[in-house]
Amino acid sequence: MHDVILSTVSALKEGLLSKKYSSVELTTEYLDRIKTIDSSTNSFITVCEEAALRQAARADELIKQGKAGILTGIPYANKDIFCTKNVRTTCGSKMLDNFIAPYNATVVEKCMDAGMVMLGKTNMDEFAMGSSNETSFYGRAKNPWDLTRVSGGSSGGSATAVAARLAPLATGSDTGGSIRQPSAFCGISGLKPTYGRVSRYGMIAFGSSLDQGGPMAHCVEDLALLLSVIAGHDHRDSTSNKRGPENFCRHLNKSVKNKVIGIPKEYFSNNLNPEIHLIIDEAIKHIEKLGAKIKDVSLPSTSLVVPTYYVLASAECSSNMSRYDGVRFGHRCEDPNSIEDLYERSRAEGFGDEVKRRILMGTYALSSGYYDAYYEKAQKIRRLVKNDYISVFKDVDFLIGPTCPSIAFHAETFTHDPVQMYLSDVYTVSANLAGLPSLSLPAGFSQGMPVGMQITGNYFRESELLSLGHAYQTNTDWHNRYTTQKLGK
Ligand code: GLN
Repeated sequence: MHDVILSTVSALKEGLLSKKYSSVELTTEYLDRIKTIDSSTNSFITVCEEAALRQAARADELIKQGKAGILTGIPYANKDIFCTKNVRTTCGSKMLDNFIAPYNATVVEKCMDAGMVMLGKTNMDEFAMGSSNETSFYGRAKNPWDLTRVSGGSSGGSATAVAARLAPLATGSDTGGSIRQPSAFCGISGLKPTYGRVSRYGMIAFGSSLDQGGPMAHCVEDLALLLSVIAGHDHRDSTSNKRGPENFCRHLNKSVKNKVIGIPKEYFSNNLNPEIHLIIDEAIKHIEKLGAKIKDVSLPSTSLVVPTYYVLASAECSSNMSRYDGVRFGHRCEDPNSIEDLYERSRAEGFGDEVKRRILMGTYALSSGYYDAYYEKAQKIRRLVKNDYISVFKDVDFLIGPTCPSIAFHAETFTHDPVQMYLSDVYTVSANLAGLPSLSLPAGFSQGMPVGMQITGNYFRESELLSLGHAYQTNTDWHNRYTTQKLGK
């Protein structure tokens, strides 16, 4: 059974359908691994052993009746930002430590309807604010390639769970890179879909105009399977796109011949670590050999994207965080002596430092007198960023560059220097500002740590993006590398 955890999801499906093992056996295998290994990686905030085994038994029944769908019986790890009925949803915060949502997020409902098995809820930066998982109230998820290094954030628990083979698939959310950056740091594949492709209903809001849920997995083929389950219109999310469900596996084998790849010159500046530069150059050459054409392009607004993102994301966060006031749900302080005291102490006790910093920055940027100088200015630059992309996508099909300027850094490197931490998001935030789909794939190693390549496509071109990623993975094996670190007891 042990080789099972190194299998792709398609192979697991095959194993289930051919009765090599049942979903209950498969789920037990993963739960056992979580029990022994998660003490090292801290990937999960909550493990749902009983419920998972129940869901697996139901999946086995469906398989027996010949009613299996594409992911029936396949276990997955769910980022603790997606609301789950009967299972607590903490969003990595003390504020929601005791919160049990009365309903399921659409993404969770879709996984459930597909007969998937939820192993548990994964660790994350508090309210998804962070790039290292160090803002989690539950301690950081540790990088399985080197436990002294960060997993990336905010979907660090999902990334470490997949990388340490504690789950074959995971959900994530990406407001400014939170699917792609931890995927790159942990050597897995992750996709941020086009804004509106996956419903945000029941996904706890951080920056509502930027947030997007998506899949994380070992390889592109597995991403395509999970995206096929979770994507599609949802009338409960007013920003959900009208497109219905799609089978994202259908075009995976499409040739990439004559596709035009743009290389943004701003992404290869002196700030990029030279080893990462070389690795991405190699990956681009590889893709050229597959028949794609390479073209140098420019995204002139690149130097502005980090400050623009942090003004807008903080502004939206300050508004979204206002609902946590100790009145309806979440943390409430002891014995408040007035309504102001209730608000002040509940929020002071419930939120961590990074969330407070963002609320302060966001409230400042939105306050009268500063609104024009910060929020409105940032909105105008956001339009310039989008225009840059609209203009390059007239000439190219995809853009390729590094996912991050460095490999996973050591814990506590930037905890006292938030601006340096924010700068590590330089390559990821623009896809969110523009709303574009963007993929991170393992492309090599530097100092024994994984390096990610980022491929961004035009709006709703996930299928093409996945086919390029699949072609790359069919010809390389970076995505199959597995950490040999000793994990667990
Ligand atoms: N690192 C970015 C931030 O801290 C992005 C986080 C995210 O995508 N949720 O805001």
